[in-house]
Formats: sequence, C-alpha cells, structure tokens
Amino acid sequence: FITLAIETSCDDTAVALLGGARKVLADSISSQIDSHSAYGGVVPELASRMHQEAMLPLLESALAQAGVKNPREELGLIAVTAGPGLIGSLMVGVMTAKALSQGWGVPLLGVNHLEGHIFANAASEELVPPFISLIVSGGHTEVVLARAFGDYELLGTTRDDAAGEAYDKISKVLGLGYPGGPVIDRLAASGDAYAFDLPVPLASTREIEFSFSGLKTAAMTLIEKESERGAPPVADICASFQRAVVESLLKKITLAVKTTGVKRLTVSGGVAANSALRAALEKYSAEKSIELFLPPRKMCTDNAVMIAAAGYNSYMRGNLSDLRLTPNPSWSIW
Ligand code: ATP
Ligand code: FE
Repeated sequence: FITLAIETSCDDTAVALLGGARKVLADSISSQIDSHSAYGGVVPELASRMHQEAMLPLLESALAQAGVKNPREELGLIAVTAGPGLIGSLMVGVMTAKALSQGWGVPLLGVNHLEGHIFANAASEELVPPFISLIVSGGHTEVVLARAFGDYELLGTTRDDAAGEAYDKISKVLGLGYPGGPVIDRLAASGDAYAFDLPVPLASTREIEFSFSGLKTAAMTLIEKESERGAPPVADICASFQRAVVESLLKKITLAVKTTGVKRLTVSGGVAANSALRAALEKYSAEKSIELFLPPRKMCTDNAVMIAAAGYNSYMRGNLSDLRLTPNPSWSIW
C-alpha cells in the first residue's frame, strides 16, 4: 500500500511516498527559507506562488525516486495537509491533491497538520497510544494527550507567542537572521547558560501553559543593555535564553506526565530539533523511566513523510475525503 502525501501549509513544499506505515520511498522538500529570510519571516503571498512553482517538479522527482511508474495502479491513497496553516499555501496543496485524485482515480484524504506532527517519528519506530506529544514550532506550542489515534486532548498551549517565534525574534534582534532556532542552538553550545538570569516563564503555576512574550522582552532588554556597553556576549545570551525556554518546556511536560500518569512521550515541530531540548528530554526520561520517542531532526520540521504516516493511519481508521475537501486555515482536532 503506497501513500502519496503533499504538505504546503507554510513555507516548505513537500512531497513524500510511504510504503505501508513506515517505509519511506521518497521524501522531497523544496525549502523557501532563502526567499523569505530577506523579509525576516514568511511572506504568505510569496509562499503560495513558490509552492505553485515547486509542486510539479517535486511530484515528478518524488514519484521517480520511489520508482512509481503507474500512479493509477500503484498508489493506494493521496494524503494532503488541509489545515491549519496559511490559506493560500494550503490551497496549492489541496487543489493539486484533488486534481491528482480525480485524474488517477486514487482515494483522497485531508490531513490535519498537527496530527501530522504527532506522527513525526512514525517512519522510525512504532508509537502506540496513549502518549503525550509536545508540538513546538514557529506557530505552535502544544501539549497533547493522544488517548488513541484520532482521539486527542489539548492539555495546554501558549498564552501568547510560540517557542519558535521567540527564537526567531531574538535572532532578529541579535542580527543572526531567519530562522533563528538553528543559529541560536549552535551559538548557545559555546555559551554559559547561567551567564544571565532570564526568567523561566510561568515556572510556578500549576497549569500546563506557556508564555514566551515576557521572556522575549526580557531578552531584548538584556541585549539592548549589553549592546550599550559594547559588543554583546552573543553566545552567553543565546545559551541563557535557551536554558529558560527549555526549562519552561520541561517543567510543563513534567506536569503533563504527572497529571495524566501517561509515561510515553514524543515531540515534534522545528524546536524539537533543538539540541538542548533533546538532551533535557533524554535526561528526564531516563531518570523517570519514561519511554521517549525522539524523531530524527529532519522529521521534526515540516515534511510530507509525517503527513503520509498520519494520512495512512487515518485512512485505515476509516476516514476519507472527496472533491468537496477545502483547506481550513484554523482546523482543530481537539
Ligand atoms: P508550524 O508552526 O506551522 O508547524 P513552522 O513554520 O513553525 O510550522 P517548523 O519547521 O515546524 O515550521 O518550525 C520552524 C521553527 O522551528 C522556527 O521558529 C525555527 O526557528 C525553529 N527551529 C528550527 N530548528 C531549531 C533548533 N535547532 N532550535 C530551536 N528552534 C529551532
Ligand atoms: Fe509544522
């Protein structure tokens, strides 16, 4: 059974082919980062146009890579991200998937992008519910309880900014460019995480909740103050900022494990590629005998393999879309 998946919810055009639940036959991504970085963030109009340009060549190369010569006969399902995301971007993927489904006579299924993230590790190993999933990216900071596949409860989210958004903002202020996560991650490795005492957001509340706006302001004020004195100690600032972010994420994950009693954990989203977060999760899981499913870094950021895996699972649960499928920019599955 081969699933073809298309993902265009934000600024990456991605196509993947998955055999069964786990065998990656093709994993193609066309990143738009270079085009958007000049503007310091994603420009929606530019994103949809670039998805259009990238889509057909990407599809052709993915099918060739998977050795699929006759899609009509060989494909079992076309899965496509239908939301949440940027409406213009989602539109390109959904319209393409509908056209292919119609043309080839292959079943069509709209997949939720966040359910996709929950399946980030699916291609590497089997994860059986119940489990807790932390989704941390540029647009999301969500702690989800997966009771069963298709049965999700939102345990907590951010009051304001997403974790990745804070990374991107601090990076911009430090003149390190977009996206900020990877460069801050790298610089933090050579800095002192305790050089500056930045606040760990909502550290003492008993709710599963996040807030990164106050930390962002505190870090920006610190950068301003240090810059007045001369060249700011960039590595130390990055390390101190990162420590506060990671501590906040870990605190609330701990709380989620405690309140649910579920000792199986997975993580996804761009920030899940962060070295300090991964190390902290590994340490915590080892100490507390928690089963940790840490997807490979490239499966954490947006990709189509996770959409294929979520789509395949959802199709096997009996879900199916038809040509009435329309993108929903604010589609929620909890
Ligand atoms: P969405 O929010 O719709 O899921 P997104 O546009 O945020 O998608 P992702 O690729 O999942 O896309 O995540 C990108 C975010 O992850 C950016 O904010 C980026 O700075 C952050 N990021 C990427 N790598 C790292 C890293 N190593 N450490 C910290 N943050 C990172
Ligand atoms: Fe994403």
